[in-house]
Amino acid sequence: MKLSTAFLFLCATSASAFIAPTSHRSIATTRLQSTTEEAPATTTTTTEEAKNTNVAQTEDTSRDKVMTFSYDMSMEPKYEKPTYPGTGNGMSGDSGEYDIIVIGSGMGGLSCSALSAKYGSKVLCLESHIKVGGSAHTFSRMHDGGKYSFEVGPSIFEGLDRPSLNPLRMIFDILEETMPVKTYKGLGYWTPSGYWRFPIGSREGFEELLREQCGEDGEKAIREWDALRARLKTLGGSTQAVALLNLRQDAGFLATTAGSLPFVLKNPDVFGDLSLTFDDLSKTVDEFVTVPFLRNFIDTMCIFCGFPAKGAMTAHLLYILERFFEDSAAFCVPIGGTCELGNTLQRGLEKYGGKLQLNAHVDEILIEDGRAVGVRLKNGNVVKARKAVVSNATPFDTVKLMPKQEEEPKGLTKWRDDIGKLPRHGAISHLFLAIDAEGLDLSHIDDPAHLVVQDWDRSLQDSQNLCSFFIPSILDKTLCPEGKHVIHVYSSGGEPYEPWEKLTPGSDEYEAYKKERVEVLFSAVERCIPDVRDRIEFSIIGSPLAHEAFLRRDRGTYGMAWAAGTSAPQSGILGSVLPFPFPNLKTPVDGLLRCGDSCFPGIGTPSAAASGAIAANTMTHVDNHLQMLSEASKLDPMYKFLDAGFMGQVYKPLVQGMTPSSELRTDRFTTGAGAAPVDYSASDPNVSDRVDL
Ligand SMILES: Cc1cc2nc3c(=O)[nH]c(=O)nc-3n(C[C@H](O)[C@H](O)[C@H](O)COP(=O)(O)OP(=O)(O)OC[C@H]3O[C@@H](n4cnc5c(N)ncnc54)[C@H](O)[C@@H]3O)c2cc1C
Repeated sequence: MKLSTAFLFLCATSASAFIAPTSHRSIATTRLQSTTEEAPATTTTTTEEAKNTNVAQTEDTSRDKVMTFSYDMSMEPKYEKPTYPGTGNGMSGDSGEYDIIVIGSGMGGLSCSALSAKYGSKVLCLESHIKVGGSAHTFSRMHDGGKYSFEVGPSIFEGLDRPSLNPLRMIFDILEETMPVKTYKGLGYWTPSGYWRFPIGSREGFEELLREQCGEDGEKAIREWDALRARLKTLGGSTQAVALLNLRQDAGFLATTAGSLPFVLKNPDVFGDLSLTFDDLSKTVDEFVTVPFLRNFIDTMCIFCGFPAKGAMTAHLLYILERFFEDSAAFCVPIGGTCELGNTLQRGLEKYGGKLQLNAHVDEILIEDGRAVGVRLKNGNVVKARKAVVSNATPFDTVKLMPKQEEEPKGLTKWRDDIGKLPRHGAISHLFLAIDAEGLDLSHIDDPAHLVVQDWDRSLQDSQNLCSFFIPSILDKTLCPEGKHVIHVYSSGGEPYEPWEKLTPGSDEYEAYKKERVEVLFSAVERCIPDVRDRIEFSIIGSPLAHEAFLRRDRGTYGMAWAAGTSAPQSGILGSVLPFPFPNLKTPVDGLLRCGDSCFPGIGTPSAAASGAIAANTMTHVDNHLQMLSEASKLDPMYKFLDAGFMGQVYKPLVQGMTPSSELRTDRFTTGAGAAPVDYSASDPNVSDRVDL
């Protein structure tokens, strides 16, 4: 039991329609709390006159700085943010009663909703926007009679084309839903030294790249890479011994992770690395890697979690080390756009009787006697939750849904203060281009996905240094008319928000600032398509204000940013024994959970989906979870390891009476209805009356 307990900690994988708003927003004074550069902190004095050091980051962004932002959410400016055309007014949604209410249809919220529905709960997912998918939604524009579609967020996905270790793909398979994709095998890099390509799925190809790019240090770089891989080999192997989908946050995990026992017995050294899993990756990289090209490459591989190696959790690199170099590894373009991620999960949710309500903004999470009992919608309707409310909104948006009550427990006040002030990444600027492709020769590139770095000596979190562009129409012809291309260019998530919120959208200053800030994005694409400006059919600049409104993420943040190395506030039991860099998905309010990319294992679509699955598992009886894992293990040989096996059955009687944990039980559960093994059959429409409410 001890072995499997410890093993819980081991598994982790790596990893808008932006139209300038027409409504005018008042200029508000943001009460800036602090900026953290070397190490995140959550407490500094707040004064109206606080020096705006966030903005200073645009001037001093040296390579070794950890750039995060922090605000005091209890001092949120008292003005109504504008409703952007194209995002909905959030006024839909009926009153009703469900077992579980999920706020938000991002990858985390949808995964949680769909799996909870499969587990037999009656689920309602409430989405503020008129589109499903959160950061992964797409928008379209008509131009000259043709339709052009753009993704607003993620573009790079590995492992969605086949059964893989990507939790999102696992969830699709568990829901028995398919999502057609096209694949490609590399990532283009445009750097100060020129263009090169990271060939995914080829160990030899990567070694060849190191020889080419590192000159006389080529063989040294290969040796250093091998040494790093060897150091993390056991931890990497753990990703195929227990999956994120085996996790749950109660005693039941002893049973659901028990299938990892043979791995643990064979690799007892894994215990020594428990702490390393969550620790700052740069500590290990510093030990083994000196060749600058290799260090730079590792930093770019980490940056999707928001940090370079300094600040990234070691676990983020494990999936990449294990999978990106296998022959079958490939990046994927979902046919029809990234919105297909959300559509696929929505189909899964509805197949199991769940419901998604779009344009339904939640204004308040209702708490009675310390328990979340439902939500109040923006239109005033109240929806009751018999079992739990799960917030997929960022921590910063979640605390806004929980206004301080008189005489509330001190723990709740502290929790709200802690997670509202957590360090976070900055915002993102976007450029959407529709271009004419007549006579356009793209034979010098192989892939739709590209990273552009201006200067390796500057921080990769600096939005004027690192950006990405993505041309999905190279592979997906459904996204725009024939003979055209759509391109999404976006900065890294370190764009300071303050200069933007001082400006009135639509004003000359705002438009001028937009042009100034996205010039770097234009010139990034010009490196690949020198005459891109002459080819433009139309272009849209998405400012951080638009990003905020379309993605419904406070101040357009890329996400919560607790740099690895120490435990985050509110990280729960794990945080007291390991450097766990995430606040707990559980909250001080009974029946209220969180999921999404501010929860373990962090930013990225695979991680957000995994957090949703962990929340769903945590809310269901361990028997349901074990049965789901057993069924999933039979879907493909790749998933065999999901099954908790014989030891899972041994542990089950010890833990099943404690699942879900007491704060997630209702009276019915406590009196025994859920304590006995459950016959779960999600196809039965009455199943929610029988399961662990
Ligand atoms: C520009 C960009 C590029 C990225 N690139 C990649 C990439 O290449 N690969 C990758 O894997 N990941 C990438 N990511 C990260 C990834 O997209 C996110 O980490 C992930 O999608 C976040 O999912 P989530 O579950 O946390 O929820 P979100 O996507 O944040 O969704 C939360 C949902 O909650 C809704 N909501 C909020 N408040 C309320 C309310 N009060 N009432 C009702 N609904 C509400 C929101 O409208 C939203 O739909 C990128 C992100 C961005 C922005």
